[in-house]
Amino acid sequence: MSYQKNELLTVRITDMGLNGEGIGKTDDGYTLFVKDTVTGDLAEIKIIKAKKQYGYGRLMRLIEASEKRTEPFCENARACGGCQLQQMSYKEQLLWKQEKVRNNLIRIGGFENPEVQPAIGMEEPVRYRNKAQFPIGTDKEGNPVAGFYAGRTHSIIPCLDCQLGAKGNEVILKAVLEWMKENGISAYNETTGKGLVRHCLIRIGHSTGEWMVCLVINGKKLPESEKLVEKLTAISGMASITFCPNTRRDNVIMGDSITLLWGEPWITDTIGEIRYQISPLSFYQVNPVQTEKLYSKALEYADLQGEETVWDLYCGIGTISLFLAQKAKKVYGVEIVPQAIEDAKQNAKLNGMENAEFYVGKAEEVLPHLYETQQVYADVIVVDPPRKGCDESLLDTMIQMAPKRIVYVSCDSATLARDLKILCSNGYTLDKVQPVDQFPHTVHVETVCLLSKLS
Ligand code: SAH
Repeated sequence: MSYQKNELLTVRITDMGLNGEGIGKTDDGYTLFVKDTVTGDLAEIKIIKAKKQYGYGRLMRLIEASEKRTEPFCENARACGGCQLQQMSYKEQLLWKQEKVRNNLIRIGGFENPEVQPAIGMEEPVRYRNKAQFPIGTDKEGNPVAGFYAGRTHSIIPCLDCQLGAKGNEVILKAVLEWMKENGISAYNETTGKGLVRHCLIRIGHSTGEWMVCLVINGKKLPESEKLVEKLTAISGMASITFCPNTRRDNVIMGDSITLLWGEPWITDTIGEIRYQISPLSFYQVNPVQTEKLYSKALEYADLQGEETVWDLYCGIGTISLFLAQKAKKVYGVEIVPQAIEDAKQNAKLNGMENAEFYVGKAEEVLPHLYETQQVYADVIVVDPPRKGCDESLLDTMIQMAPKRIVYVSCDSATLARDLKILCSNGYTLDKVQPVDQFPHTVHVETVCLLSKLS
């Protein structure tokens, strides 16, 4: 039987896809993907796109609500592209993430029956993000607006207070929008490539209360900036005001340089015993409460006794490196973003740590080069790559260096599984897999793994 667009159907949702969408089948085996539904729902849906074997549906009405459901706490949950799982109870989200990691290890990694620990969740899974990048646009009346992108689009839905972000974001955004209006500062328009203000990046030091505001602009200069500074410095805790030119037409939010308007070009935060300086262009984990749990696991898995040489690849501002340096003889960090390495060096100093050293460059170039020319050595290697995972040439060098343990921290369990398959075909065994929920209500999951060298 074939199905048509706009047809109404009743389906039982029996599974959920990697992007959090519910999956159900009609009696004759036609598969439907339905956003905003949860395994167990019986739903009336309308087909919005019909292919031969499968289609996409919109949830019209719940006939029977799944036991896994909960009421979304945000009124924008369905429209927003940020949260995909708010309609699922937090307990079920954690189970779903554990299963997601396990499935990827089986399907992509080729592991037979991998043991995956229950995901470490948050006690209060709201307002956890220390960073927000609000797109700035213009409404129909010509007023500047800030908000979030509607799912899969770049149209901005005005909203100044995302429930995952810090409460103070709203006050800062109001000040920025007011300044734009009062001074006739234009918002960027993605379609025409005209207009000035593109994004407002806001960060808060969770333990210090220091605020950073960085405006990403389509130009080199920010007019009337002293008036912006005047407004923002009236906000308690303001520590860093900068702008970042980005005149490219692509989707990358940040440009590559920062101009200081007021304060320091960074803020500080602490994780555990360590104090960190963070610049606008540096990566810093977005969920400080869970980051401490994540890094503690990484440290536990590294099992350092004080005599080890450790390499921390993709080290960012040296967050994991310095955590490890508390227990190791020597830690080397490698990171591609020069400003992040500046932060890392400064952070080692800030904490009086002399046993950490940092290199700028691609991990897949720096480590193989140092291994060939200087036979660098490692007892333990930690990797924490971006979503695309590790380059194969890096994995090759790691295998040749043959550290006793490898700790793999991953934000994408698909590329994690791919890379673990290579390491485990070359002398390593997978001992521990621990998901940590850094991103409640989204489909993303962080995982720490311990691999040991087979003797
Ligand atoms: N371990 C750090 C950062 C992890 S995020 C922390 O927990 O804070 C991944 C980092 O890898 C980012 O800082 C990114 O800039 C960096 N990166 C991306 N590609 C890289 C590459 N090819 N070589 C080295 N670093 C890279």
